[in-house]
Amino acid sequence: MTVRLAWLTLLGLHVPPLLVGFRWGWLAGLLCMVAIHIWVILSIFLPRLAPWGRTKRRFRTSEKQVCLTIDDGPTADTPEMLSILDAAGVRAVFFLIGERVAANPQLCREIRERGHVLANHTQTHPSAWFWCYSPAAQRLEIARTSRAIQDACGENVRLFRAPVGFRNLFNGGVLRELGLHNIGWSARGFDGIDTNVERILQRILATLTPGAIILLHQGKPHHPELLRRLLAELKAREWEVVLRVES
Ligand SMILES: [Zn+2]
Repeated sequence: MTVRLAWLTLLGLHVPPLLVGFRWGWLAGLLCMVAIHIWVILSIFLPRLAPWGRTKRRFRTSEKQVCLTIDDGPTADTPEMLSILDAAGVRAVFFLIGERVAANPQLCREIRERGHVLANHTQTHPSAWFWCYSPAAQRLEIARTSRAIQDACGENVRLFRAPVGFRNLFNGGVLRELGLHNIGWSARGFDGIDTNVERILQRILATLTPGAIILLHQGKPHHPELLRRLLAELKAREWEVVLRVES
């Protein structure tokens, strides 16, 4: 959905309450308006309900294959995370925060030189408010990040993930303008808020299916250990980690 169509959709969603109000009275119209607003809000926080903007949550395969994605870098633990991935012979998709890339361009280059995929995770990671950003504000956050990665590594990124995954109906149009695809996840252990590696691992492993996209984070003390343990568990259970988010 383009940004223009998103605006028309937003305006169009106010027509049914008006019609209901004219036909059955203002209270019915008000209830209809409230119901539509609840649905729009839910579609942001429960993206599966959203009819606008595609989110890729898994890739197509019948093999025991998964894709690993790591959010919020580059951070001080990036070299350690890269060493762990190297030791396991695994490549991942790194969703990077633009201002951290600008502050640590050498880490961004190192991620790329080790064969991983660089992706866009907004400039300032406004996790509390990105879901209600205007198209212009989203464009600024996203375009600045792509530019920061381009400046640091000379690479045009094609993948995007919203902070905590919440997007409003304008995001699809903004991504289309900027040539980006939205990537979600199908397996996660809430490692951004929980620090218990065992508990996080169990959550991830319990939800793995062929084609799963796994969400991990970096930047907190338990993240390197979590990555090491997860890669060992995946190997023991004969899951292959591949770079396949776009197919
Ligand atoms: Zn994030």
